[in-house]
Amino acid sequence: MAWEDSLREDLRRNYGGAVLFDEPAARHTSIRAGGKIDAVLFPANQEELSRAIVFLHNNNVPYLPVGNWTNLIVNDGGFRGAFISLSRFREIKNVFQTEKDAVVFAGAGCPLSELVKKAKEESLSGIEFCAGIPGSIGGAIRMNAGAFGGEIKDIVERITIIDKSGVLKTFSHEQLNFRYRNLVLPAEMVIIGGSFHLMRGDRKKIEDRIEKIIRERSEKQPLEFPSAGSIFKNPVDCPAGKIIDELGLKGIAIGDAQVSKKHGNFIVNRKNATAAEIISLIEMVRQTVFQKTGRMLESEVKVVGEA
Ligand SMILES: Cc1cc2nc3c(=O)[nH]c(=O)nc-3n(C[C@H](O)[C@H](O)[C@H](O)COP(=O)(O)OP(=O)(O)OC[C@H]3O[C@@H](n4cnc5c(N)ncnc54)[C@H](O)[C@@H]3O)c2cc1C
Repeated sequence: MAWEDSLREDLRRNYGGAVLFDEPAARHTSIRAGGKIDAVLFPANQEELSRAIVFLHNNNVPYLPVGNWTNLIVNDGGFRGAFISLSRFREIKNVFQTEKDAVVFAGAGCPLSELVKKAKEESLSGIEFCAGIPGSIGGAIRMNAGAFGGEIKDIVERITIIDKSGVLKTFSHEQLNFRYRNLVLPAEMVIIGGSFHLMRGDRKKIEDRIEKIIRERSEKQPLEFPSAGSIFKNPVDCPAGKIIDELGLKGIAIGDAQVSKKHGNFIVNRKNATAAEIISLIEMVRQTVFQKTGRMLESEVKVVGEA
């Protein structure tokens, strides 16, 4: 059910920033599916963000912070509550630098690609593994994004969040509990930025590594179709994609949702897949893998909202 007019007015009055009501998730998610979200907020600064969080919290409205929506499936029934987009938190600056290293701060909404580019231009090494990951800084920290032997936790020095009371807090690396594709953090905490420790390196070597990674990604991943990246986390001893491939599941489809023919751990939207088709296909793959191998694959992608 959509929000009553009074709740919309109260939100506008208390928060004061940009908002879209009844916004289709399919317009934003990288997999191009999903129903309507009651409200998507786009705070422009810390004050607006704090006011939004306090308002939503005090009115018992569920909320979810989002970055680039690249690891997200919103069910076809949509989301009863608010998404808080960090897309306007894009500041990027050096907070400390020496001849040997530097600490770079990036706002939560800054695309990973911008930090990768800045690091390359300043001959800073350590973040090359993020080349080609389409997420934001906030999403990458929350998901402990990783690839090609690196993980965000390796370079995060500290993060800044706003808690459910609208208060700003900073956590150092030692205070953070990173796991495989997860940062253990209360769901109501919104990351507004992070600082990354990078080492000076050889610019040519950094460029070459980035190019190699981008090339490998386009060879192995179905980048020509909308997707949400890897669907399942990799078990410790074997990539999920290899298990799915060996069971002959590449190419199976429900409606327009299809297990990529190129990479077994990607589900692609061939044209007009619904979230229900995508989610049914995820479950079909999970159950088939379980029946045939006894392994229960764990989702990497986040599924939210109502069926
Ligand atoms: C083609 C493709 C390739 C990919 N390759 C990789 C890869 O190699 N490695 C990898 O790890 N991932 C990969 N991904 C998945 C995805 O890009 C990453 O998980 C990325 O870090 C998600 O960032 P996002 O901004 O899109 O997060 P979103 O999808 O917007 O959100 C993901 C989760 O993070 C939370 N979140 C987002 N922003 C914040 C914030 N500011 N504060 C608190 N919580 C927040 C959300 O609530 C949600 O739970 C790939 C995806 C695609 C489509």
